Amino acid sequence: MPPTVRRRVIDLAGTGVPVIELTGTGGGPRLTVLAGVHGCEYAPMAAVRQWAGLLGQRDLHGSVVAVPVLNLGAFRARSPFVVPEDGKNLNRCFPGDPAGSHADRLAHAAFTQLIEGSDALVDAHAGDLVEALEPFALYDAGPGEDRARDLAIGYGLGYVIRQEPGPDRAVAGSTSAAAAEAGIPAITAEAGGCGLVEQAAVAAHVRGLDGVLAVLGMADGEPARPVAPPVHLRRFIWLRSEAEGWWEPSVRPGEQVAAGQALGTVSSLDGSELRQAITAPAAGVPMFITSSPAVAADGLLLGLGAA
Ligand SMILES: [Zn+2]
Repeated sequence: MPPTVRRRVIDLAGTGVPVIELTGTGGGPRLTVLAGVHGCEYAPMAAVRQWAGLLGQRDLHGSVVAVPVLNLGAFRARSPFVVPEDGKNLNRCFPGDPAGSHADRLAHAAFTQLIEGSDALVDAHAGDLVEALEPFALYDAGPGEDRARDLAIGYGLGYVIRQEPGPDRAVAGSTSAAAAEAGIPAITAEAGGCGLVEQAAVAAHVRGLDGVLAVLGMADGEPARPVAPPVHLRRFIWLRSEAEGWWEPSVRPGEQVAAGQALGTVSSLDGSELRQAITAPAAGVPMFITSSPAVAADGLLLGLGAA
């Protein structure tokens, strides 16, 4: 029997956020699916809208809470990376702080109302407005990591990255890291980018969410078609620009690079001065690359996944 579908708007830090709740027959896990933690990552938003609509027609064991666009302020303002109200990256603010600024309060509200009490979390992302990306799923080391790894593999993307907590962690304060610390199996799944609604990326997320349902035993019917096993990566090295200038990458996301290989340059705007030659600190694969030539001092250029 199809699930009961309830569409409502919940209050998160003073913002009304649309949520789709699907309650299946019988017992089962509660899965929370988020998109739009970053306001210009459209492919996962499109996927969650589409997937939740399709799920309403299918058998479901357990329940799903799906949020197509969590960070409404950034969505409405078309603000990449940061919340326009306070300039913070929402996905560095989890589990949040009810006494903090807007992003801290939004993170706290989302964590307590949506993530806590879930049996699993999928936070669907893409490269942001100026990021090209190779699809991957990321999970954090911790108590729930075996289950999280199953979810990451079940999502069916080409790469799976495991992050160790600690000072070297590229992404701290994320939804999935905070969930992992609370013992909830969680992944961040990335496909799409550059402000586009690419159908291939939307389809990858829809397939991935179906794969997660299968891993959790929440779906009836045919199991997902087997996919090639992903490449597992243990390090996620983010490279930054020393000086502001014009960034010109010489590699593409998903391209295997050798240690020491040239990855691109940052030069002066008039083209006369090479400010920094960026080289790979280790062999690996660029998982995302800033697609805009405009970079600030200490600006993010590229994220390298490495074994
Ligand atoms: Zn994102």
